[in-house]
Amino acid sequence: MSQYDYDIGIIGGGAAGLTTASGAAQLGAKVMLIEQEGRLGGDCLHYGCVPSKTLIKSAHVYHQMQHASSFGLPEVAVPPVDFRQVADRIRSVVDTIQKHDSEERFCTLGAKVMFGQPRFVDEHAVQVNGTSISASKWVIATGSSPAVPPIPGLADTPHLTNKEIFYLDTLPPTLIILGAGPIGIEMAQAFNRLGSRVTVINRSPRILGREDKDMADVIMRIMANEGVQFVLETSIEQVERVSSQVRVTVTDNTGKQRQMAADTLLVAMGRSPNTGGLGLESIDLPVERTGIPVDNRLRTRHKHIYAAGDVTGGYQFTHAAGYEGALSLPMPCFAFPGRSTTPGCPG
Ligand SMILES: Cc1cc2nc3c(=O)[nH]c(=O)nc-3n(C[C@H](O)[C@H](O)[C@H](O)COP(=O)(O)OP(=O)(O)OC[C@H]3O[C@@H](n4cnc5c(N)ncnc54)[C@H](O)[C@@H]3O)c2cc1C
Repeated sequence: MSQYDYDIGIIGGGAAGLTTASGAAQLGAKVMLIEQEGRLGGDCLHYGCVPSKTLIKSAHVYHQMQHASSFGLPEVAVPPVDFRQVADRIRSVVDTIQKHDSEERFCTLGAKVMFGQPRFVDEHAVQVNGTSISASKWVIATGSSPAVPPIPGLADTPHLTNKEIFYLDTLPPTLIILGAGPIGIEMAQAFNRLGSRVTVINRSPRILGREDKDMADVIMRIMANEGVQFVLETSIEQVERVSSQVRVTVTDNTGKQRQMAADTLLVAMGRSPNTGGLGLESIDLPVERTGIPVDNRLRTRHKHIYAAGDVTGGYQFTHAAGYEGALSLPMPCFAFPGRSTTPGCPG
C-alpha cells in the first residue's frame, strides 16, 4: 500500500497535463488531475489554437468571397461581417472538441479529475478545496498567460488579449495590435480580412522575429498589400484612454514621436509562465522569468516533480506540450503492477 493518495498528481488540464493524465491512467497509474477552470482543454482549446484557427478560416473564406473574380467567378458584393456570428461559430467548434477533453472522458480513462486551485504544502502534497492530496510524483503543467509588459498607462487602459479577442460581440472598426509574433500577426491578418483597420506596432525592425527573415518579409508584404499598417522599429512610450478610444504614443528609430488611436487594443507581447499561487516558494522550487527550469527528462530541482508544456518556457506549441506531457510520464509503467485504474468518475 502506497504512503501517498495517488501515484501521479497533475496540475493543469491543457495539452501537456491531459497527455500525461491519459497516458499514465491507461498504463495503470492512480492519477489525480487538478484544473483551476471549470473545464478541461487549456489555452489551446479555449483561447489559442482552436479559436484562432477557426477565426482564420472565417477570415480566409470572407477574403476569398471578396476576391471571387480572381478565381474566374462572378464578382459578389459581400455584406459586412457580423462578428457575433463568427464568435458563435468559434464557440460551436470549441464545444465539439470539448467533448474529447471532457471530465467524463478522462474519468473513463481512469483519472480522477478535480477542479480547484492547488497549493503545495510539502514536496508531495497539495491543498485544494480544503482537502490535502498527496502523490508520489507531481507534474506541473499549468501553461502560460499573455504577458502584459510594464508600458506606462497600459495596465489602466482597456485592452484585450487572446483570452477575450475571439469572443467579441462586434468587429472592432479599428484595431491596434502590440506585438508582431505569431499571435499578433495571425490576429492582424484575420481581423484585417474581416474588415477592421489594423495597425501592428513592434519594437524590432521586422515581424515574426523567430522565423526566417525571408519568409517573414513575404508575409509582411502580403499583409501590407491587403491593408495592414506596420509601425516597426518603434518603442511604445505610453498607452492611454481618450474618450472611447485607445491612444498609443510611440517613438521611432529617428527619435520622432507619433500617436495612433483605435477603438480596440490587442496586447500580444509574449507569454508568462503560470506559476503563481502554487506555493512553489514554500517547497523551494525555483522559478525563472521564462518558466520552471527542468532537466532533459523534464524533472525540476525535486526529481519527483516534473514540469511540462508552456510553463517551462520551452517550445510554446500544443504539439510540444503534448510531447512533453508524454515525456514527463513519471513511469516506468511497471511501477504500477496490477493496479486497477482509478475509479475517477463522480458518483
Ligand atoms: C492565440 C494562440 C494561438 C495558438 N495557436 C497555436 C497553434 O496553432 N499551434 C500550436 O501548436 N500552438 C498554438 N498555441 C500555443 C498553445 O496554445 C500552447 O502551447 C499550449 O496550449 C500549451 O499547453 P499547456 O498544457 O502547456 O498549457 P495550457 O493549454 O495553457 O494548459 C494549462 C492548464 O493549466 C491550468 N492552470 C493554470 N494554473 C493553474 C493552477 N494554479 N491550478 C490548476 N490549474 C491551473 C489552466 O487553466 C489550463 O487549463 C497558441 C496559443 C495562443 C495563445
